[in-house]
Amino acid sequence: MSTQKRFDSVTAAKTWSRRPQSPSGDRDLLSRIFGADTFGLREMQSRLPDKAFKQILRTIEHGDSLDPGIADTVAAAMKDWALSRGATHYTHWFQPLTGATAEKHDSFLKVGRDGRAITEFGGDQLVQGEPDASSFPSGGLRATFEARGYTAWDPTSPAFILGGESATYLCIPTAFSSWSGESLDAKIPLLKSIDALDRATRRALKLFGIEAGRVTANLGAEQEFFLLDREFYYRRPDLMTSGRTLFGAKPPRGQELDDHYFGTIHERVLAYIQSVETDLYRLGVPMKTRHNEVAPGQYEMAPIYENANVAADHQQLTMRILERNAHQYGFVCLLHEKPFHGINGSGKHLNWSFGTADRNLMDPGDTPHDNLMFLFFCTAVMSAVDKHQDLLLAAVSSSGNDHRLGANEAPPAIISVFLGKQLGDIFEQLEASGRAEEGDQEGLLGLGASVLPDLPRHAGDRNRTSPFAFTGNKFEFRALGSSSSISLPATILNTIVAEAIDNWTDVLEPIVGIGKSLEDALWVLLSNEIPSFKRIIFNGDNYAPEWVEEAARRGLINSSSTVAALPAFAAKKNLDLFERYSVMSARELEARLEVFTEQYFIQINIEGETTAYIARCQILPATVSYLNQLASARRGVQEAGASTAALDASIQRVSGLLDELGEALDNLDVQNAELGGDEVSEKVIHMRNNVIPAASAVRDVADRLEHIIPDDLWPLPTYRDILFVK
Ligand code: ADP
Ligand code: MG
Repeated sequence: MSTQKRFDSVTAAKTWSRRPQSPSGDRDLLSRIFGADTFGLREMQSRLPDKAFKQILRTIEHGDSLDPGIADTVAAAMKDWALSRGATHYTHWFQPLTGATAEKHDSFLKVGRDGRAITEFGGDQLVQGEPDASSFPSGGLRATFEARGYTAWDPTSPAFILGGESATYLCIPTAFSSWSGESLDAKIPLLKSIDALDRATRRALKLFGIEAGRVTANLGAEQEFFLLDREFYYRRPDLMTSGRTLFGAKPPRGQELDDHYFGTIHERVLAYIQSVETDLYRLGVPMKTRHNEVAPGQYEMAPIYENANVAADHQQLTMRILERNAHQYGFVCLLHEKPFHGINGSGKHLNWSFGTADRNLMDPGDTPHDNLMFLFFCTAVMSAVDKHQDLLLAAVSSSGNDHRLGANEAPPAIISVFLGKQLGDIFEQLEASGRAEEGDQEGLLGLGASVLPDLPRHAGDRNRTSPFAFTGNKFEFRALGSSSSISLPATILNTIVAEAIDNWTDVLEPIVGIGKSLEDALWVLLSNEIPSFKRIIFNGDNYAPEWVEEAARRGLINSSSTVAALPAFAAKKNLDLFERYSVMSARELEARLEVFTEQYFIQINIEGETTAYIARCQILPATVSYLNQLASARRGVQEAGASTAALDASIQRVSGLLDELGEALDNLDVQNAELGGDEVSEKVIHMRNNVIPAASAVRDVADRLEHIIPDDLWPLPTYRDILFVK
């Protein structure tokens, strides 16, 4: 009976079936399906009157505000399109502070006077929605008596169709705010931060004689995840309640062989990934790469980068489709940062750059002029990262990511910037002599008369351990957790860099204004400023213990946990910054602090209670059964007059562990029953200081028991089962 558990899982792995794919040899497949489920530019152009289309285009391309007068026209066209695609409902799709997405469906139905069904969807319904906001986290921004919240259409992110055989509905990307106008979502601050970066950058570009069009931030997020057979998932209460295993001994074979990374993708996994890509292509998400990751059962996918707002929506869609399609293949997709103890966790690398439609400002470029501009913007980024390490850490902190940061598989909870040797040399020269002469390193071409070296276009060297690395034409922020929304980290990056650009521009503008040389002024500025932020540059091994000491000497922040990192959201320096750039008000930031703190508390609370439940109701009974078996075996053996030495030793061992388990469990129960205070800020300290260690102690005994309790009695699928059945 109990061994049966293992077998049904194997059955699932053997009986998966492929979702019908397009016939092979369909050469036009990609171009036919890409964006087919979106009401994008192509669809709008063919369905909207010229005038309306041009207006929308201006909004999308230049950030102009949209004339509300065209909402009815767009709504009619959108409804027509959605109905032609089989949609029966529409929803305002938004991103509350839960980190996920939310939707409430309304049908297009209207009953006519004669009792017949007609469809209805006007400008009003397109532009604004009024979902009951009372159950979304608001961090005190919305009292329940004013439960109203508003969703507002974001015309810059295309509407799309979700669904399939069971239901098909139109999703309209929207922003979500409280009745009093405060943002309750991830999108509004992101959009405002893009505006802030746009304004600061365009102002700075004038120094370089460039009258630029709209500047946007670009994002490309690499998503790591685990796949496991659904059978195992449903047999693990810990995975079901908290997304990670709270028990599980390291298997004899883990990731030591390094045989998974970039290995051939298993067929069932590949079929699943292909289905995810196909669905995402239909939604206009430009998926590009896929590969096996380091840990067994771990994979990564990444898109081609896009403008930040659309990329953030697409990243949310990617996570949802990854989770949804897994079920179709008998898998569950785990987006948790650390599903398995002792096995690498999952992160999300956020590739970030900014520029105009035809110029990436994080690209060193080919000419001295471009190089100069690059140095300006690149140093602005570095000074921003140095000044606001606390915010970047707060943005990536969560109970899940606490398991990774600083655990020798992800960058430590210390923010530093990797520049690569060539760029690093240039900064050293700048600091030492106020000029950067052309380098003699390979790849640096001299520029004749100019004192400027030609900067290396592609950083030849890579540093996988850095949390914030310059990778040739973008920065890669690698500290994000795999389940994280990319909106807030991007919002913070955009805003802090806008501020740094403004700071540089404030110095240079008056000098250039009186006709002096920009180049000379920039050298002076940089040689003055580099000493103030150069501590943030670190090109060495971020995993090395010496770096932790070195970083402390440099005065860099080393955040011990989410509980320590989150309060940065409400630090005076940061409240001022976001207020000044109109990205978030003090109340909005304090609300985020409150919501994220609460999330940490809830998550650890669930983990503490689930640990106690599994230990007491599954592992303890299994241990008692085994002890019983041993005791009755001993009686039999004794009657037979044979040696009981080995049995005696086993009984001692198991009963010793049983006592240990009972004791650890009693302590966990005590800690679980406590809250640590009335304020959520007190509760999280109790969670971190008392509940987490108490739960780990229970786990520690249970994991030792897993090694000695017979397979048919052990109540949970083991790591060996979970990680290797595909
Ligand atoms: P790696 O694994 O080497 O870091 P990948 O190709 O897996 O590289 O991912 C790199 C990501 O960075 C992709 O999503 C890519 O589109 C994105 N990217 C490339 N150039 C830029 C850029 N200028 N701005 C933002 N993202 C970029
Ligand atoms: Mg990467």
